[in-house]
Parts: sequence; C-alpha cells; structure tokens
Amino acid sequence: MNSLSIIIPCYNEEAVLEMTYQALNSELKKLNREYEILFVNDGSKDRTFDIINDLSNRDTHVGGISLSRNFGKEGVLKAGLAHAKGDLIVVMDADLQDPPSLLHEMMRLIEEEGYDQVGTYRSSRKSQGIATRLFSEAYYRTFNFFSDVKVPINEREYRMMSRKVVNTILLFSEQNRYIKSLWSWVGFKTTHIGYEDIDRAAGKTKYNIKNKLKLAKHNILASSDKPLKFVGTFTVVFGVFLMVYTTYLVLTSNLTVNLIWAWLMWIQFMMLSVIADYVGKTYLESKHRPNYIITKSIESSMKVNK
Ligand code: UDP
Ligand code: MG
Repeated sequence: MNSLSIIIPCYNEEAVLEMTYQALNSELKKLNREYEILFVNDGSKDRTFDIINDLSNRDTHVGGISLSRNFGKEGVLKAGLAHAKGDLIVVMDADLQDPPSLLHEMMRLIEEEGYDQVGTYRSSRKSQGIATRLFSEAYYRTFNFFSDVKVPINEREYRMMSRKVVNTILLFSEQNRYIKSLWSWVGFKTTHIGYEDIDRAAGKTKYNIKNKLKLAKHNILASSDKPLKFVGTFTVVFGVFLMVYTTYLVLTSNLTVNLIWAWLMWIQFMMLSVIADYVGKTYLESKHRPNYIITKSIESSMKVNK
C-alpha cells in the first residue's frame, strides 16, 4: 500500500499549527496507511519550530526541517520535496485553507484511476474582496499570455503527486523556480479538483499586494522567455515605424507631433527594463546557489521508500 508524505510550509504559523495537526491527523488516521507530516519552517520568527518540535515529541509521524532564514515558498517546497519519504507526496498550506478531507479523493484518483498528479483550484473566491479577486484573475491571464507553459486559473498549491513526478521535479536544479509552472511542464497524467475558498483558520496572510506583484513578475520571468521575444518583435516593428516617421518629419518639418517621440522613448525604456530583468535573473542563475539551507531537522519514523 502506498505511504503518504504531507509537506507543510510554515512561516510564522504558531497560531494555527496545533489546529492543523489535529485536523490532519484525524483525517490521516482514517486513510489507514503509513504516513508522515513534514513541517518545513521557513525561518519563522515566532514559536513555529518549537511547536513542530513538541508535535514530533508527541507523535513520531511528525518530522520537521528548519531553514536558516526566510527563503520563500519556492525554497520551502524544494526542501520539503527533497526530504519527503512517501510514495505519494502532498503539498498543503499550514492554515487549513486546503481541506484535509480531499486527501481521500486525491488518493483514489491516483491509485484507482492512474493519475500521477492531482492538483486543486479555487472554485469560488467568495471570502476575498473584489480587488483581490480582480488581481488574481489578471495575474493568471497575464501569466498564461506571457508563458508557453499554462497554469490553470485559480490553481492552488494543494496537490498530491506520485513519487515518479516528485523524483522528476527533483532533477530540476534551476534557482529561479515557479512550482506551478514546473508541475505543468513535467506533464504526466494530471487532473484537478475544485473547492470553495476557505478562510485561514488562524494567524495572518504572509502576502501583501507588494509581495504579490513581486512574485507575479518573478513567476513570469522564471517560467518563460516570451516577454523577451515580444521585445524582439516590437523592436523590428518600431524600427520600421521610426524610419517611416522620420522620413515624414523631414519631408514636412512638422515639429508639433514630437509627443510621439516621447512615447517611443518610453516604450524603449520599458523594453530595456525587460531585458535588464532577464540579465539579472541569468546572473543569479549562474551563481548556482542553493534555494535553501537547513539548520535543524527532525526525522519522522516513516521508513524511506524512494
Ligand atoms: N509561507 C512560507 N514562506 C513564506 C510565505 C508563506 O512558507 O515566505 C507559507 C505559509 O506559512 C503558508 C503558505 O506558505 O503555509 C501560504 O501562505 P499564506 O497562507 O500566508 O498565503 P495566502 O493563503 O494568504 O495566499
Ligand atoms: Mg493561506
């Protein structure tokens, strides 16, 4: 029978961890198979790792990893995937916004219907304000416009994967990562389950609009070179336009239309900034730095079965 690893990224989650453990534990017991809950502490400044430690003393199904600082969710997930021991691996947020009750159906889809990845998406965003909903919608549409690898609209990071998928993702050594695009990129037989948006059980969100915008840009740059190709095409189109326009100016000496020059200059600066972003990412990638550093680790009692 397949064993199960649940990876939980945790950044300042002291308010919710005990609740999450209780909810998850009662669901996992019902599944009647070997499991581990692997909490990954992303450099929290509160008691998150102490709580993980307590939980592991009480229950040997609980394991933990602590990172040396806050690396962000991509680093946490990479660390979690590298340390999970199960045959089926689940990624789930710490705040109970990802219902543990779906685990049973996810497992059925993999074990009985032969899927390798069961992702999830929000079927509604009722609990969110209009601004957040519009931002999310715009984000997914922009991402998919600029990327050859498509990410389903409103996809969550709550997901179950077979060991085959996880081992494939672990082969990717790139530093600039976006896990949702990697999931799409690797392929394998994939399906999604939808669920209603649920409020955080306790604690606060770790993302404000500034982080979200930064991440949105990072995700596009990490996943696609389409914006660069876009710049290339624009340069050719504007080059032709400039030639025609300059000829027109020379012939008519009409200086009142110089506003167009200002616009063209602005567009050029925008295009330069896209190129600069890619140069920056390439520079960072060339350093081959790790995505995370582990300072402490607690092993669950589950046997390794990779
Ligand atoms: N998280 C993390 N590192 C970070 C930010 C968030 O490990 O730098 C974790 C966080 O503890 C939670 C999950 O990522 O388990 C999602 O974060 P959050 O619930 O704040 O995001 P939201 O649901 O509001 O988008
Ligand atoms: Mg959340």
